[in-house]
Formats: sequence, structure tokens, C-alpha cells
Amino acid sequence: MTQTDDKTLCALVEEKYHESHTSEFIKLIQPAKHFCKNCGRSAVNQKNLCNPEAL
Ligand SMILES: [Zn+2]
Repeated sequence: MTQTDDKTLCALVEEKYHESHTSEFIKLIQPAKHFCKNCGRSAVNQKNLCNPEAL
């Protein structure tokens, strides 16, 4: 049980979890190919993200 188990990604992004705990957030969204460091969203195509990071 971690602090993220009972929280939605939406709530985590709202509290900037993807910025403060980037690597933990990435574990929650994999196997996504890319993730946005601004919005916390994940996508197959990095062109769909405003600040993409390859996973
Ligand atoms: Zn974005």
C-alpha cells in the first residue's frame, strides 16, 4: 500500500504529484510511451503532449 493506491491520477496531478514525484508517477501510467511533465497526461504520440518526456 502506497500513498497513491487510493487516489486517481487526476487528483495526483491536481496536487502536482507528477512534478514532485515524477518517477513514481511514471510507474502509475506505464506502459504509456510518453508523459507530459506539465499536465501529467500520458500518450502514445509525443506530439499530443505539450511538454513530453519519453518513457
Ligand atoms: Zn501537457
